[in-house]
Amino acid sequence: MCIFCKIVNGEIPSYKVYEDENFLAFLDISQTTKGHTLVVPKRHYDNLLSLESDLASQIFPIVQKIALSIKEITKAEGFNILNNCGEVAGQSVMHFHIHIIPRYANDSFNIQFSSNSFTNEELNDLAEKIKNTL
Ligand code: AMP
Ligand code: ZN
Repeated sequence: MCIFCKIVNGEIPSYKVYEDENFLAFLDISQTTKGHTLVVPKRHYDNLLSLESDLASQIFPIVQKIALSIKEITKAEGFNILNNCGEVAGQSVMHFHIHIIPRYANDSFNIQFSSNSFTNEELNDLAEKIKNTL
C-alpha cells in the first residue's frame, strides 16, 4: 500500500486540513513554504492520467477553498498549484496529488520555465495533432 493510502487509512499520522467522502488534504511534510498542503483522492490513482474524470472535476473547488483558508491564516501573497505527473516530471509518491504551495516575498521556492524554439509550422502542426487526438 502506498504512503498516501496509509495516511488515508489512518495507518500513519498526518496534519489533516480537509476531509470529505472522496478527498483528504494534509500538510506536506516538507513544508516547502509555510502552509504547503497536498490534496489527494482517498482512492488510489497513480497520477492525473489515470484519475477518474469525475474526481478530476471535483478537486479544483477544494483546492481553491483550501488556498483561500491558507491565504487568510498565513497571509500568503500568491500560490503555485502543482501536479507532478510521472517520475520524469518529479513525481515521487505515485498516488495522485495536487500541491498547494503558498508564496511569500523572498521565500526560498524557485520555479522557472525554460524556453525552446519551434517554427510556426512546427507549432501549428503540433497543435493540430493534439487537437485531433482529443
Ligand atoms: P511529488 O514529488 O509531487 O510526488 O510530491 C510528494 C510529496 O509528498 C513531497 O512534497 C513530500 O514532501 C510529501 N510527503 C511524502 N511523505 C509524506 C508524509 N508522510 N506526509 C506528508 N507529506 C509527505
Ligand atoms: Zn495510494
